[in-house]
Amino acid sequence: MPDLAHDTALIFRVALPVPIYRLFDYLAPAHDPPVSAGVRLEVPFGKGTKIGVLMAIDQHSDVSAAKLKPVIRILDAQPLLAATDLALLRWVSRYYHYPLGKVISAAFPAGLRQGKAAVARGENYYALTDEGEAMDSQQLKNAPQQKNLLEKFQAQTAALSETELALWQGNWRTLVKPLIAKRLLATVTAPAAAGRAFSNNAGLVCNAAQQAAIDAVTGSVGEFKVFLLDGVTGSGKTEVYMQLIATVLERGLQVLVLVPEITLTPQLEQRFRQRFSVNIAVSHSKLTDTQRQTAWLHIQHGDCAILLGTRSALFTPFKKLGLIILDEEHDASFKQQDGCRFSARDVAVVRGKLLDVPVVLGSATPSLESLYNVENRRYQHLLLPERAGTALPPVLQLLDIRNKRLQEGLSELLVADIKRTVAKQEQVLLFINRRGFAPTLICHGCGWVARCQRCDANLVVHHHQRTLRCHHCGQEQPLPPHCPACKTGQLTALGLGTERVEQLLNGLFPDKAIVRLDRDSTQRKGALEDYLAQINAGAVDIILGTQMLAKGHHFAKVTLVVILDVDSGLFSIDFHAAEKLAQLIVQVSGRAGRAEKIGKVVMQTRHPDHPLLTALIADGYHHFAQMELAQRKEALLPPFSHHALLGVQAADEDAPMQFLNAVLVLLERANVPDVAVLGPVAAPMARRAGLYRYQLLLQSAQRQALHRLLDNIVPQLDALKPASKVRWTLDVDPVDLF
Ligand code: ADP
Ligand code: ZN
Ligand code: ZN
Repeated sequence: MPDLAHDTALIFRVALPVPIYRLFDYLAPAHDPPVSAGVRLEVPFGKGTKIGVLMAIDQHSDVSAAKLKPVIRILDAQPLLAATDLALLRWVSRYYHYPLGKVISAAFPAGLRQGKAAVARGENYYALTDEGEAMDSQQLKNAPQQKNLLEKFQAQTAALSETELALWQGNWRTLVKPLIAKRLLATVTAPAAAGRAFSNNAGLVCNAAQQAAIDAVTGSVGEFKVFLLDGVTGSGKTEVYMQLIATVLERGLQVLVLVPEITLTPQLEQRFRQRFSVNIAVSHSKLTDTQRQTAWLHIQHGDCAILLGTRSALFTPFKKLGLIILDEEHDASFKQQDGCRFSARDVAVVRGKLLDVPVVLGSATPSLESLYNVENRRYQHLLLPERAGTALPPVLQLLDIRNKRLQEGLSELLVADIKRTVAKQEQVLLFINRRGFAPTLICHGCGWVARCQRCDANLVVHHHQRTLRCHHCGQEQPLPPHCPACKTGQLTALGLGTERVEQLLNGLFPDKAIVRLDRDSTQRKGALEDYLAQINAGAVDIILGTQMLAKGHHFAKVTLVVILDVDSGLFSIDFHAAEKLAQLIVQVSGRAGRAEKIGKVVMQTRHPDHPLLTALIADGYHHFAQMELAQRKEALLPPFSHHALLGVQAADEDAPMQFLNAVLVLLERANVPDVAVLGPVAAPMARRAGLYRYQLLLQSAQRQALHRLLDNIVPQLDALKPASKVRWTLDVDPVDLF
């Protein structure tokens, strides 16, 4: 090769999905039409090839020309990620100290990541014919399923895709066919371009607080600003979102709506589909890869105007994004707990800033971080202090169970209360934050306790399956007939889980319908939806469940909410626990009395004077939050300082400490006086799934100083000598201990 060729050849700087903190240089292909950053490439790597993304084109490389390899092929004519998308991913990589190539790769749906062609699978769309539109659905009353489908189409004006129909009902094909035969439906090839009408109706007449919120955000469309929509449950936040979305759609822009878990809030999707006549894409982890890729490409192309998704949808590229809404912003599931541990809430704000787009964070129980940002005037506070419509706020009560006789954890007063409520044909909701029958199995004879062999944890008794299960590693074994240690002692299940309370309630109320909602009872696909439908139809008297119940559901007929084990959250070594407990109490309470009847919330406790509980009851969530923020300030805890948690685990008992001691040396050498190093210490769960776990916490009042230090040490970690024996993870702004 003459040297001349290398001198003029361009260099492609490529991000590759490998755990290495830099980009890789390749020789650009000679004869291709010019491409720009954001296209996917296939390049040689090691003994094979990898799919990467072009980040930059340069004249020079630090790598000697002889060592540079040529790109194998370019996969996209047009970049799939725009410059602002790449800027966002760069920010995420820098802030969370996670390799850029892996961050970028994770932004793509699986197929695109593997190099498949970027075409939305040729999906069919279906739409009403004129006849279908005019048809009175009652005429199909002898075919109720066809009638339902017709009504689904009539409730909205956009075409529906195969994906959307499949999500609605598994047997949709057998229903679409006869409707096409009757000329009520027709196949349309492409999604209907959004017409002039974006909404099917104008929505409700808003109250003054709602209108003020809408006006504030509307005034900021086209610029970056963060709003905290702080409204009690039922105050009409969703209505505010919908009116804002309508405004943004009318300006020809798209909207990103992020929620903690879509499967737990099917009502939201329904309400959106009823209100808006544009195409709506939905994206979450329960979809197939193809479905997710279709949603991703429709949004990237601008074929869909609204994307409703969970945290993984945050990085979907938009053609013209105009508004970001993040509902239930306090929810911990917005924090990714593996891989790149980003906070979808914080990254959403950065995305808004990069795109000059307003960001609305909504919650009835805002996170302390967001309230602090309001205090600092970084976020604008929009308050909805009252429930919309006629519903009244629930009354909170503590039930002191010290020295009271308990039946499987329920006091007599409480049982009487439940009895009175169901006698009035009203629903009761019982909350207990533990699934299974009981958290501990102990031998009455010798004191043996059923422990997980791979974790520092007790095995949980599951009565229905007659098993002992570890909730941390999933290990499972049959319930032993007698004590494995002394062979004679009687085994006793200690403590409460949902199964146990269900058993008790079945005994107490044999003629009442009781539904248990937890991860075990809702495993079957569609089970949760079935239960929710039964509950909303009024066919259920008592609903019993875990924190699944705290999320987004409207239970209009519930007038009594019971929180059985509030005490289990009062004393924790994690400073986040108080905030999480207060949010949980208020969120669960928000499920009560959403219709005309006033609701009551009863919390059983042995600590009726605990300041968290008394503050919450006497003065509400905001007062609690102020108190808690004051305490955090005193203790210099986040948001008054910044944390990064380095967690290390290994099968070898000594390896994590060897590794962390080597990290200490790096930290000392870096010599950053503004960062405090706490640890290393054993993790709160020192052994999990057979691995030994240790952690090191870095804390600084100055975010910059902390990040400078991390910039310095993180790229060196894998080169430390003991690194080959451990797995380490870095969690910036952790919300959980390791
Ligand atoms: P949130 O999202 O804050 O929990 P929603 O938007 O779901 O509240 O509203 C709760 C209930 O109040 C819904 O049934 C909704 O239709 C009703 N609602 C909301 N805004 C108004 C309003 N301005 N006038 C009358 N009813 C309203
Ligand atoms: Zn025993
Ligand atoms: Zn285990």
